[in-house]
Amino acid sequence: MALERTLSIIKPDATRRNLTGKVNTVFENAGLRIVAQKRIQLTEKQAGAFYEVHKERPFFGELVSFMCSAPVVVQVLEGENAVAHHRDVMGATNPAEAAEGTVRKLYAQSIGENSVHGSDSLENAKREISFFFAETEILP
Ligand code: ADP
Ligand code: MG
Repeated sequence: MALERTLSIIKPDATRRNLTGKVNTVFENAGLRIVAQKRIQLTEKQAGAFYEVHKERPFFGELVSFMCSAPVVVQVLEGENAVAHHRDVMGATNPAEAAEGTVRKLYAQSIGENSVHGSDSLENAKREISFFFAETEILP
């Protein structure tokens, strides 16, 4: 096991319902440390660039407009095996398939409006963290 960092986003469906603290409690109870965090309004250009890997998918337009529909909370989480551990704590993309106790089982509304994003590999985590944060903004 290794100490890792991953990029987490609390999505508009969750910020709109005032769930930031509840989501953070799930992360902290799972041993993930919030080492950077800010609430921002994404532009369509930023959201499109962040999700560029999905640009050919049928839901891309819907995803970009959803991500800009209210503020998001972007955060860096640190912990042992943080990338995979955070994915486990988030639960499956589709909340209907998410395990009990996961953020998506607890709070997600649909496969699209599913409350949280998490990096899916250490390499992507590095890219996604640098998309939103300078190294000086990350305080372990
Ligand atoms: P994850 O967020 O679990 O890594 P993906 O990378 O496959 O999932 O998809 C990115 C995001 O796109 C999802 O979290 C969700 O918000 C949205 N999405 C994925 N699949 C669909 C779908 N079939 N319909 C609408 N939105 C979707
Ligand atoms: Mg993904």
